[in-house]
Amino acid sequence: MAIERTFSMIKPDATRRNLTGKITAKLEEAGLRVVASKRVWMSRAQAEGFYAVHKERPFFGELVETMTAGPTVVQVLEGENAILKNREVMGATNPANAAEGTIRKEFAVSIGENSVHGSDAPETAAQEIAYWFSGVELVG
Ligand code: ADP
Ligand code: MG
Repeated sequence: MAIERTFSMIKPDATRRNLTGKITAKLEEAGLRVVASKRVWMSRAQAEGFYAVHKERPFFGELVETMTAGPTVVQVLEGENAILKNREVMGATNPANAAEGTIRKEFAVSIGENSVHGSDAPETAAQEIAYWFSGVELVG
């Protein structure tokens, strides 16, 4: 199986509740390695750019508000099948539908404040990593 990198973000609802360590532990327990990490309080322009794919969705305004409401922790995770593995550990977008043991089942407040982001495909992983990190910040 291929070693991949994926982009992960611990959202403001989670940093506010001091869950950075607990969420990172779940990622590490799943076999993912944090190869880059920094705390960022994103601007409105950064949030709008990052989530541009959703700009026509009815929840876009709410999404930008929640993502700029406090600091996030942006991370690059590395491991076997990292993109899919991270999505599995995250759980479903709506915590009401998330499986037992997933981050969103355990920690998410609502579909909007669902504690984590994770890339959904190799192309988006590459784009999202490049959006937040330069090559020299990725330290395997
Ligand atoms: P995921 O984060 O699981 O990849 P999406 O890419 O579909 O989910 O949506 C991006 C983010 O937008 C979600 O994580 C969530 O914070 C927010 N979101 C999605 N759907 C809704 C909704 N119906 N109402 C409010 N916020 C939503
Ligand atoms: Mg998504």
